[in-house]
Amino acid sequence: MILDCVFCKIVGGELPCYSVYNDMFAIAFLDIAPITKGHTLVLPRVHVKSLSELKKDEAAGLIFAVQRVSSGIMESVYPEGLNIFINQGEVAGQVVPHLHVHVVPRTTGDGLKFVTPRFEMSESDFKKLAKKITKAINV
Ligand code: 5GP
Ligand code: ZN
Repeated sequence: MILDCVFCKIVGGELPCYSVYNDMFAIAFLDIAPITKGHTLVLPRVHVKSLSELKKDEAAGLIFAVQRVSSGIMESVYPEGLNIFINQGEVAGQVVPHLHVHVVPRTTGDGLKFVTPRFEMSESDFKKLAKKITKAINV
């Protein structure tokens, strides 16, 4: 537990939240400033900043909780779909430095835009990049 982490305080029960789920690995509660109705955060009980810091059972536990929460939202809020994402690192928009997964209900015409322009890469650049990443994964 990190003393000045707002999400550790919620995990520890020192700060309130609108809880929707908790188990031995993860908890989930409503985002205080929701993007859409039902926007929920799912986080590991353990304080880590990034996904790669979790142990295998903690990572599996987090994804299991995301699955449960996602199904619960679909069956109660009735959106047409969901965006499920992590902002990892300040450059990616991470404000709270305790890893958390956003589950955002989506409905036609809700006005959200996650689509951005793409850039093109040559076949040889794709091949080199895939090799480089594969090598790093398997170290
Ligand atoms: P990030 O930008 O770090 O991925 O997302 C942080 C999210 O946490 C934001 O969507 C923000 O609204 C939410 N948030 C920040 N502080 C609190 C809090 O004290 N309680 C709850 N429920 N949500 C919070
Ligand atoms: Zn924390």
